[in-house]
Amino acid sequence: MSNKANGKIYHSFDEIGQELFNLKPQRRVTRDKQKLVSQREKLLGTCPHCGQQLRFVYGTNVLACANEDCKGKKYTNTNANGEEIVRYKPYTKIMDDRQAMIANIIFDEKENGK
Ligand SMILES: [Zn+2]
Repeated sequence: MSNKANGKIYHSFDEIGQELFNLKPQRRVTRDKQKLVSQREKLLGTCPHCGQQLRFVYGTNVLACANEDCKGKKYTNTNANGEEIVRYKPYTKIMDDRQAMIANIIFDEKENGK
């Protein structure tokens, strides 16, 4: 959503309110630290391979396993010589648009007053 006013493009109601009506920026993140921690935990979830909490890759829609010792999903193939080839794929999860939007808000340090 953007609105044009005097040639300036606004990208949110917040921007319009702040500039034209001197409103304070709206806080989108809870002040309750415990609630924020549980919101983050719930959104992140855990790695299905090692059980460790996933890490949000900031600015993206990706959650990844942060455990350095976790190899992720195991794939086994047999090559032409009949030898077994084992490969691992690190676990990542793609969030939908809504989840990604929430993640970018609740993990934004500016929003959290840091
Ligand atoms: Zn893992």
